[in-house]
Amino acid sequence: MAETCIFCRIVEGQLPGDRVYEDEELLIIRDIAPVAPQHLLIIPRVHLASLNEVNEQHHVLLGRMTVAAVREAQRQGLVASGYRLVMNCGRDAGQGVDHLHLHVIGGRQLGRIG
Ligand code: 5GP
Ligand code: ZN
Repeated sequence: MAETCIFCRIVEGQLPGDRVYEDEELLIIRDIAPVAPQHLLIIPRVHLASLNEVNEQHHVLLGRMTVAAVREAQRQGLVASGYRLVMNCGRDAGQGVDHLHLHVIGGRQLGRIG
């Protein structure tokens, strides 16, 4: 755990988080500043600062994060209308929390990206 990392502190229960799901590898919380009616964060328990720290050891973790995101989108009723998964990496992407996480965003028409 990184002492100064907000998401590590939420994982450890030292800071509150609106948890909607958790298991031995990850938790899902509601974003504190949602950009859409549904905005969830898939957060692995292990501290990885960003995608730049990911390697072959993390194949399973990344797969589980993706499957957890899809399951949660299903639970939140987003399948018919659609949703977006986002991982911001680094300054130009606007990454604000340096602990790997996957956004699940939906519940309204989203703008085009790119
Ligand atoms: P990033 O910009 O790093 O991809 O996304 C970080 C996200 O974490 C932002 O959408 C921000 O609103 C959210 N966030 C930051 N601090 C907290 C917090 O303390 N609790 C929760 N639930 N979300 C947070
Ligand atoms: Zn962390």
